[in-house]
Amino acid sequence: MDEPIIDFLRHLVAFKSVSSDRNQAENSRKTAEFIKGKLLDIGMQAEIIENEDKNKNPFVFGKMGEDPKKKTILFYSHYDVQPAEISDGWDTDPFVLTQKDDGYVYARGTDDDKGPIAVTIFALDELLKENPNLPVNIRILYEGEEESSSGGFEDTVLKNKDYIGNVDGIMILDTSWFTDEQPSLDYGFRGITYLGIEIEGPSSDQHSGMVGGTIREPLIDLVYLMSRFVDLEGRVLVKGFYDKVKPLTEDEAQLYENLEFSLQEYKDAIGISKVLKEDAKQTLMAMWRNPCLSIHGVEGAFSGSGGKTVVPGKVIGKVSMRLVPDQDPEEISQLFIKHVQTEFMKLNSPNKLTVSPLGNGEWWLGDVNNFLFKSGKKALQQYWKIEPSFARSGGSIPIIPFMEKTFNAPAIGVGIGQPSDGAHGQNERIRIKNLIGGKEVIKLMLQNIAEVE
Ligand SMILES: [Zn+2]
Repeated sequence: MDEPIIDFLRHLVAFKSVSSDRNQAENSRKTAEFIKGKLLDIGMQAEIIENEDKNKNPFVFGKMGEDPKKKTILFYSHYDVQPAEISDGWDTDPFVLTQKDDGYVYARGTDDDKGPIAVTIFALDELLKENPNLPVNIRILYEGEEESSSGGFEDTVLKNKDYIGNVDGIMILDTSWFTDEQPSLDYGFRGITYLGIEIEGPSSDQHSGMVGGTIREPLIDLVYLMSRFVDLEGRVLVKGFYDKVKPLTEDEAQLYENLEFSLQEYKDAIGISKVLKEDAKQTLMAMWRNPCLSIHGVEGAFSGSGGKTVVPGKVIGKVSMRLVPDQDPEEISQLFIKHVQTEFMKLNSPNKLTVSPLGNGEWWLGDVNNFLFKSGKKALQQYWKIEPSFARSGGSIPIIPFMEKTFNAPAIGVGIGQPSDGAHGQNERIRIKNLIGGKEVIKLMLQNIAEVE
């Protein structure tokens, strides 16, 4: 017979809550209803909260406990998932939970985030059965749009902030362990600023047999510009870009000592023979605590196979910068625009330049010495008997700093699955051992939170 948690997860993954597909909106709502039902079953209050963006999936809010003498912990996860089709290369139906004898269960969402949702609810259920008087007050905030940029998140949370009330700590269950063997707690994400650099020349696309050699081609201007964004060592050439980057402290450097990171495995995974800095620690720092600039593509340029002698009339280069404490995305965006304008002046071009911001996201940096990290570290030691690592990510989850500010409370990332689970890929999975262990860790962590200062 299945463990009840697996049975619950089997039902949860069967809903196609793919947020990028509006045709699945009804399935997303059913997912939210199903989770709400389970929260009510275990004795919590729960509500479906409509998204302030009417075209987006609803939220599940839940709560239990109003004791002002206890800390209040808010759990965040998302119930929506990435798209998945068996034709993408899945071995089994992505929306049917399949248990294999390797100790894993397979289905879309098992790792990201339906498994972590199951873990949280079953941890609370077991705590309540042991003692109806929970060690902390609990709040639940589950969204259905995370895989589609969390549309409507900020407005909806702000509007319904009173339902949640006072919060002392935010637990983010939307990350995974740092390695397959080492549980970790997450304390940071980078921010981002994304821009488009448009260069407009002739009023429409032209033939190189016609205009070649007669005009300044927009794409040639753009290539000149783009060559001045970053040097060959990866240093960003925008003036003032590094001014606010926090210097590395002794304490922070110490956090990199307990990380099992193999540079060779990293290189194998991305299929490359050499990285910018042939050093494991420096590579991790480049990924987590240093900012960078990437060039993503050129809209309007010919990109098909074979040759085409077009001279594009208008091209838009796409560039983003991952940002770190204390860089301000808005300020960096402005510095970048100024840089592009200055460099463009030097080209003395008759073409028209327009730089447009395409979006910003804040970075997040947690305090690894606060009560959340102390409680989490102890819980991981208690259950897994392993010294946990503290990890960051090079990616961005802007809703974490938003929640910290909105609730005036610190956050922590508690990973449940493993990095090899294939969160957004084919054959997504989670180890049963991690589901059971994650549940026990959450129980221990809540008890530890009640005990620490
Ligand atoms: Zn996720």
